[in-house]
Amino acid sequence: MSTLEIRDLHVSVATEDGPKEILKGVDLTVKSGETHAIMGPNGSGKSTLAYSIAGHPKYAVTSGTVTLDGIDVLEMSVDERARAGMFLAMQYPVEIPGVSVANFLRAAKTAIDGEAPPLRTWVKDVNGALDRLTLDKTFAQRSVNEGFSGGEKKRHEIAQLELLNPKFAVLDETDSGLDIDALRIVSEGVNRFSDQGDRGVLLITHYTRILRYIKPDFVHVFVNGRVAEVGGAELAEELEANGYDKYTKAAV
Ligand code: ADP
Ligand code: MG
Ligand code: MG
Repeated sequence: MSTLEIRDLHVSVATEDGPKEILKGVDLTVKSGETHAIMGPNGSGKSTLAYSIAGHPKYAVTSGTVTLDGIDVLEMSVDERARAGMFLAMQYPVEIPGVSVANFLRAAKTAIDGEAPPLRTWVKDVNGALDRLTLDKTFAQRSVNEGFSGGEKKRHEIAQLELLNPKFAVLDETDSGLDIDALRIVSEGVNRFSDQGDRGVLLITHYTRILRYIKPDFVHVFVNGRVAEVGGAELAEELEANGYDKYTKAAV
């Protein structure tokens, strides 16, 4: 049983006019076995939260804490975060020209486990993961994210999720740019991951459609850098019907 805990998190970014506070006191606790959806309008700070948990240097934590089983995540290097069991899939994944998917996955797995995975089972695992995500075997030889379609980028993320098998996954807009088939395939991958029982998922999304496939235990409405409301899966249905108006009006 693990806990990812975010307490009163304040985060600023540097702008031409000086630092601008984007996160204004975020509280959120994800326990293993739980799936949390973070939903909110564009510009509410959802990606900023993901980047802050990931340790992106552009985002300065001015106060508050992020801990994994009581250990300070914000003090960890990006590598240490991965080794501690955190997986972070960003809304706009970076291209790594010249590094194949196969080499990237193997290097990531080796870095996290502290030893290289046995080749024979590893190749089988990689091919199995690609296959379940309906990615062709030749996909493994392509350069990471270079020329990938939106759907390929997101399926590649889920392949990483399956193979690296973290404790907690933060998935930022995993549903953006997906057609209906890709959305189902990606969602099934997230569900395979969370169905292992002791995994935690923080699913950041703008639209409710992915929640037809992934059933969250908790829904957090994110507005203006804060959690404005927390509820169960039914809250997503209410948002689908009524939008974010009620919260954005209250926030100004
Ligand atoms: P969301 O993911 O909910 O759409 P973001 O976290 O991307 O929201 O952005 C929240 C706010 O912070 C927006 O107003 C955005 O313009 C601003 N912001 C985010 N990153 C930066 C940055 N690097 N520099 C300046 N402003 C930023
Ligand atoms: Mg669950
Ligand atoms: Mg975003």
